[in-house]
Order: sequence, then structure tokens, then C-alpha cells
Amino acid sequence: MVSYPEIRKTLAAAGVFDPSFEAREILREYTGSELPGGDISPEAEAAIQKALQRRITGEPLQYIFGKWEFYGLPFYVGQGVLIPRPETELLVDIAVKRLRRGSSALDLCSGSGCIPVSIALKTGAKCYAVELHEAAFGYLERNITLNGADVTALRADALDGTLFPGMTFDAIFSNPPYLTGAEMRSLMREVSFEPESALYGGEDGLDFYRKIIPAWVGRLAKGGFFAVETGETQGAAVAEIMRDCGLFPEVIGDHSGLDRVVVGTLKKTSKI
Ligand code: GLN
Repeated sequence: MVSYPEIRKTLAAAGVFDPSFEAREILREYTGSELPGGDISPEAEAAIQKALQRRITGEPLQYIFGKWEFYGLPFYVGQGVLIPRPETELLVDIAVKRLRRGSSALDLCSGSGCIPVSIALKTGAKCYAVELHEAAFGYLERNITLNGADVTALRADALDGTLFPGMTFDAIFSNPPYLTGAEMRSLMREVSFEPESALYGGEDGLDFYRKIIPAWVGRLAKGGFFAVETGETQGAAVAEIMRDCGLFPEVIGDHSGLDRVVVGTLKKTSKI
């Protein structure tokens, strides 16, 4: 008979970082309750055993469940797509503060679509999403449908600033791959299950910022802004790239005080 202490113990023995949290999540996923009072059905028990078998190999819980929450909304996830992370919610907070119904927002390197879907639903802005990789694009489309969001998805290379010809955007968002070569060589076991194409940003982690920002800055509407997630020490370097492109950058930290987002605004009088 599986129980919370037993599940927790199995996870702890497998080196899971927060076995108490994951044991509760597993119980909730398969029994509907974090600490089931009565007996666990044989079906639920079998599902839990199967999930534990996968989890102890290092596979992330999110892939095993096939779904994860971001900004209070559900997203399908699995092999081939980056798992939405809580720190990325900061980008949506910025959108909520600065966009409204009728605004237009573009998200580059969309992956699961957690950013454009949340922005579309929480602000009413019309959103556009670009994702290159086939598996990730499949999740993006499914998550737009799952949430009934007004997002137009395009399977294309986000480095190509000529997509959506003739359009300008009030805001351009991206959580591009930004891990460095050194970080890629010492990935947590769970993260190594995620696609390298969603993680690796070149030796210093900055390749995508160097390409995406100049490629798209000319597509911002006057007074518009670019908002990107960054690694914890990349704020100054990304701010510099934005300044070189004529934007006025601000580095925003997360609750641990680490760099997390850089927002670069195009002044209304800018000649770009
Ligand atoms: N935040 C992710 C991590 O730490 C990286 C995501 C990304 O590269 N955009 O694993």
C-alpha cells in the first residue's frame, strides 16, 4: 500500500531535491488529494508506482504528469519542450502592467506558449508567437487551444525579423535559451531531460539576445518595449545590447535579488 511517507522516502533516496513537495504533488495528481484519508484505489496505486519508476530515473515530474501550471493556467508539457518556470511569470506581470485590450504583443522562442497564452488571457492583448522546433510547436498549438487564447502561432525561426511583414508590436517578449557552456556541462539531472535547443545560448549564453534584439527592434511601435528573461548575472550585458539598439533598458531582479528580466523601452520620439 503506497502512502505519503513511503513515496517521500522513495523520492528522497533517489536524490530528489524537494521530496515532500513532490510526494504531495504525486498524491494530488493520482488521488485528487494531497493526503488521502482513506484507501488509495488499486488503479491510483499502480499509476503512482509507474510515476515513481520514471521519476527515480531523473525525469522531471512535469513531463510525467504531462501538464503543469503557469500563471494559474494549465499547460501541456513533455519531451521536446521547456517546462514553464515560476520566475518567467515576471514577464507576464510586466505585460499585465503595461498592455491592455487592443495592444499587440509578439513572443519569440515560445516553446509551450506559456508566455503568449498568459498574456493574451490576462491582458486581452492580441498575441503572436514564433517557435521553430516541431515538438515544441505542437505543444504551443495545443496550449493555445486548451486555454482558448487569442494567439496566432507561426512555426519559424525567431532570428528572422522579417516575419509578420508590415506589422509593428507594442511589446516583444522572449525567454530565449541563455545557459552558458559551463552551465550546460553541469546541468541538474532533471534539466538534462529538457531540449538543449531551449537551454543553450552559446558559450557566454548571450547569442540569442545579440541576434533577436537587433533583428526585431525596428518592429516595435513608438513607445513600445522589448522584455526578455535573462540568466541571473546577464542583466548588465543584455542592457548593453539593448542600449546599442536604441532602447532604454531597465534590469529587474527576482525575489532573490538576482537579474531576471531586462525591459528596454523605445522612446516615443525615437528615430528607429
Ligand atoms: N531558466 C532555465 C534554467 O535555469 C533556462 C531557461 C532558458 O534558457 N530560457 O534551466
